[in-house]
Amino acid sequence: MSIHEPVQLPDWQTAGLSLYAKTEADVERALARSQRSIEDFMALVSPAARPYLEVMAQRSHQLTVQRFGRTQQLFAPLYVSNACANECDYCGFSMSNRVRRKVLNDSELAREADFLKRQGFEHLLLVAGEAPRVAGVEYFERALRQLGPTVAQISLEVQPMATEEYRRLHRAGLHAVLVYQETYHRPTYRSHHTRGNKADYDQRLAALGRAGDAGIHRLGLGVLLGLADWRLDSLMAAYHLRYLERRCWRSRFSMSFPRLRPAEGGFQAPHPLSDADLVQLICAWRLFSPELELSLSTREPASLREHLLPLGVTSLSAGSSTRPGGYAVEPEIALEQFSIDDNRSLKDVVAAVQRLDYQPVWKDWDPHLHVELW
Ligand code: SF4
Repeated sequence: MSIHEPVQLPDWQTAGLSLYAKTEADVERALARSQRSIEDFMALVSPAARPYLEVMAQRSHQLTVQRFGRTQQLFAPLYVSNACANECDYCGFSMSNRVRRKVLNDSELAREADFLKRQGFEHLLLVAGEAPRVAGVEYFERALRQLGPTVAQISLEVQPMATEEYRRLHRAGLHAVLVYQETYHRPTYRSHHTRGNKADYDQRLAALGRAGDAGIHRLGLGVLLGLADWRLDSLMAAYHLRYLERRCWRSRFSMSFPRLRPAEGGFQAPHPLSDADLVQLICAWRLFSPELELSLSTREPASLREHLLPLGVTSLSAGSSTRPGGYAVEPEIALEQFSIDDNRSLKDVVAAVQRLDYQPVWKDWDPHLHVELW
């Protein structure tokens, strides 16, 4: 495959016909295999798999413990900016929302990072709205050089960038890039992303390939669950993952499960996902891809997070703020992207992880392992 070949996804409707035609026999065949294909994944996310939830959960748990042990990596999102030049109708940071905009300066960034570091976090996920004029590659390069010496790993969930920009950030110590496609259904994507660079579906779809070409160690995918049919969106994400695995074979991969939450503007999920759906989805991903890191955020309530944790989840955010400056700079001011549902302190999350007989992992990487192969 040429590195310039774009992501190829199947036709949504045709894939839907195949997925909804899956039978219990297809699910049983998928469960019997040791290595599973996209066809198997289709069966495992289909309605036909619902009676097999218990057996899926058991297998998913076993596979996860085999590969990852009884561990949970802990990370904290650090919102650096809520400025955004895009219009996404489900998001509190949308450009037309009348919220006060804030971009952390160097000393505010240091205070926020210091707060998290003192709690024990070694993995920071820098998050920002998409406003390259005020938080572009120079901003993130400076942030990486500033914070890099103080923590073990820094990931980025910001606007998609060009390969050369990702290369610059890689050289500055960037560990992981997360770019969620939100939905792979083009008409739905168009209707929810109406202004700004994010309206360009294809340049977003290609972003993780560019990050992988630049040598980024881990690439994070995700679907904003609730925008479109979650089964089909997840199937498209499975095709995307397989494409990236071939193209960016040196990178590792992670999958996140952001479920639509209330935000500024009162957006309601058009295709809501039940808790049982989420269980099925997490198990299906684990059975499809035993190596994949599965990440769960504080969008989900505490009790559900505890139930989902042993099923296949390998990393958790904890004690999170979804506001720039929300930890130490101006914790009392509301500038949040979406409301979180697990409001427990970090200490309580750690205690819950240990109660479930899992070991919280603060550090599984060291900047000395960061090599420039590209
Ligand atoms: S989802 Fe991201 S790009 Fe869209 S408005 Fe929110 S911060 Fe901006």
